[in-house]
Amino acid sequence: MRILVVEDEPTLARQLADGLVAAGYAVDLADNGIDAHFMGDTEPVDAAILDLGLPGMDGITVLKKWRAAGRAMPVLILTARDTWHEKVAGIDAGADDYLAKPFHMEELLARLRALIRRAGGHASAELSCGPLKLDTRASRATVDGQALTLTSHEYRVLAYLMHHHDEVVSRTDLVEHIYAQDFDRDSNTVEVFIARLRKKLPPGMIETVRGLGYRLASPQ
Ligand code: CA
Repeated sequence: MRILVVEDEPTLARQLADGLVAAGYAVDLADNGIDAHFMGDTEPVDAAILDLGLPGMDGITVLKKWRAAGRAMPVLILTARDTWHEKVAGIDAGADDYLAKPFHMEELLARLRALIRRAGGHASAELSCGPLKLDTRASRATVDGQALTLTSHEYRVLAYLMHHHDEVVSRTDLVEHIYAQDFDRDSNTVEVFIARLRKKLPPGMIETVRGLGYRLASPQ
């Protein structure tokens, strides 16, 4: 899952990025409204965390432009404390949730998980596919209750497949959702991650759909 973080305060931006990466997300950073608008408009991010007070273009305008262009990813806005009118303006502009600064990283992660889960039509924080379970709160996967040892990229690939299980996911989709924009992307590495995941999962769970991509499905 790939998250766009828009925050012009460098220390907070870094804390957000570190916390999100530690939780298993790929992170793109923007420190002004112009770049934020462009990235959210052109990159397939799974959610955005958007500060409202930004240089270049304010967060409300960025959000309105995304929504007007049909960009539907969940957006969590960061507001200053005790500014109820910002929250109202943000929600009216198409925000899905808000958090007032200062906030605890744990609360931000919980709200983000809920937004991504709802966007994918999942009701629970634990996703399951046959014997495979993914606890998005702990960034942990288990098979029949046994924890899998996964690298951060293996986790990202598996999490994306779990959020889209029983659907065909193309290699391009995977590359775009497991790497941030500035990462040196090599689609061959996706095959490597898939091969490693196959060794860790029950046989047959990750099907190759020739010419189209991969599908995660419960073993028959
Ligand atoms: Ca700001």
